[in-house]
Amino acid sequence: MISPESLARQVQSAGFSCTRCGRCCQCHDEGSALVMVFPSEIRAIIAVTGLSWEEVAEPYPETIRNASGGRYTLGWCLKRNGGACRFLEDSRCTVYDSRPWICRTYPFMLDGDEIVISECDGLHQPTGEEEARRIAGDLICRREAEEAEAALIRAVLAKNTVPAGSFAVIDSDGMKVIDG
Ligand code: SF4
Ligand code: SF4
Repeated sequence: MISPESLARQVQSAGFSCTRCGRCCQCHDEGSALVMVFPSEIRAIIAVTGLSWEEVAEPYPETIRNASGGRYTLGWCLKRNGGACRFLEDSRCTVYDSRPWICRTYPFMLDGDEIVISECDGLHQPTGEEEARRIAGDLICRREAEEAEAALIRAVLAKNTVPAGSFAVIDSDGMKVIDG
């Protein structure tokens, strides 16, 4: 298991300072700006915006068909609007304090113990030790949250079958039949 100190050193060596260009919140191709969100993150955004669940999130677009003829997807992503995340306004995140883990940790993510770095205008900039430690801490919290969500989803999947002809979202809350 990678230590927070070692992770912080890798972040500092990559160097990062967000320029607020907003590029990571915009769609550049079909799969971009797909920000996966947990139910708890959707509820946090609902709490600060007053929007409904459907106004905040939509089913993740990749679907799976089961042996019974039902179709499902494993979670949600933030709603997109006009080629960008719906919460991006004038290159500014309007839910900044409640933004999901993916946004908090971009352009970094952990794949096991390996740090993966996405394309970003803010790379190769000086990063202070404190900021590198914060990012490392967030990356470890994000991985824990993702592992917990995945375990709950597996448990829901083991107990539920999407009925034939229906479409459902399976998330840590349970099975939500959207259609059918
Ligand atoms: S994280 Fe990177 S791509 Fe996203 S707004 Fe900041 S500099 Fe731009
Ligand atoms: S929630 Fe904010 S930071 Fe995340 S993609 Fe949307 S506008 Fe960007």
